[in-house]
Amino acid sequence: MSDHDFISGSKPIGIERGEGPYLYTADDTAYLDAGASFACTPLGHSHPAVVEAVQEQVGKLTFVDSSYPVQSREDAYAALVAATPDGLESAWFCNSGTEANEAALKFARSATGESKIIAATRSFHGRTMGSLAATWKDKYKEPFEPLAGDVEFVPYGDGEELAAAVDDETAAVILEPIQGEGGINVPPAGYLETARERTEETGAALVFDEVQTGMGRTGEMWACQRAGVTPDVLTTAKGLGNGLPVGAVAVRDWIADGAASHNATFSGGPVVSAAVHATVSTLVEEEWPAHAAEMGDYLTGELEAAVGDEVRDVRGNGLLVGIELKRGANRVARDLAMNHQILALPAGRTVLRLLPPLVIDESGADQLVDALTEIVAPEVSADS
Ligand SMILES: *Cc1c(COP(=O)(O)O)cnc(C)c1O
Repeated sequence: MSDHDFISGSKPIGIERGEGPYLYTADDTAYLDAGASFACTPLGHSHPAVVEAVQEQVGKLTFVDSSYPVQSREDAYAALVAATPDGLESAWFCNSGTEANEAALKFARSATGESKIIAATRSFHGRTMGSLAATWKDKYKEPFEPLAGDVEFVPYGDGEELAAAVDDETAAVILEPIQGEGGINVPPAGYLETARERTEETGAALVFDEVQTGMGRTGEMWACQRAGVTPDVLTTAKGLGNGLPVGAVAVRDWIADGAASHNATFSGGPVVSAAVHATVSTLVEEEWPAHAAEMGDYLTGELEAAVGDEVRDVRGNGLLVGIELKRGANRVARDLAMNHQILALPAGRTVLRLLPPLVIDESGADQLVDALTEIVAPEVSADS
């Protein structure tokens, strides 16, 4: 088995069930899910509120198209719009992150009458033709070119370059408020504000891709709230249905007006809507974003203290944590899985990405810190 095989999917660990931040094999070995389910289960695996809501809905009405009012969709819609920043007053449901970004780019074109898109280096926005065109890595794009869209890339985090690239012909600027796939890159203070000011000046739509950063992960419901910047379009997916396939695009009124001719058959189906309503209302009512902030501080504090000199950087916000290693992240992820029963993901060659369910507690965080210390700083763990 090569490292590559391990990371790309053929992991030799059969998962049978999940509970809280743990996944279990058929012989009941527990694996701490520190990111292996790609931030899709903010409330932990098989959360009872979500399971109950889905089971009830699937038995009552599994599907009817979105032109008929259905209570679970109305509840999901109300909960989502209430949870998005003020100014984003309507939303459209879809089935995944790439579809949310695809819609965002279409909406921006339609609302502005322009077509040029500005995206950032090291971005990841999905794998369909439009979202992929705004994704940075050539590896993902080259076999499929030409892609859809007129996209210019500017260096992530550089406000001056961004401002210079945006002009009257720009339809949208699309940014992750913190880059996930690209290595957990937190932009410098003022960057998102600059993007906001410049797009306001030219009339372009500011799109924040919160597919990975949203749903409370960074300590606020949305990462853009940390910077106090509200975009024109906010996309979400991954954790939105706590594991069910659903995405959404939340928009300001001037964007919504031009969005009417876009749709999808499964948009806001009754079952995924039940999952969204249960997930969003539980996250908000039980204040899980605040817990994520607290646990994130604890985890990064312990990590920095334990493995200080052996890593280049520990960064992120809340429970979106990147550890920049002095060695390949794939190998460390494999060691964590095979020898410590912890599932984590690389984000680029040397960054290990931790995005555990928000319900992780101090004992889970300690388990992570102890295992990482043993792998990357064995002399430290032998002393303690
Ligand atoms: C995962 C991800 C996507 C794509 O979502 P899919 O549901 O896989 O299509 C888009 N943007 C970001 C920031 C992501 O992390």
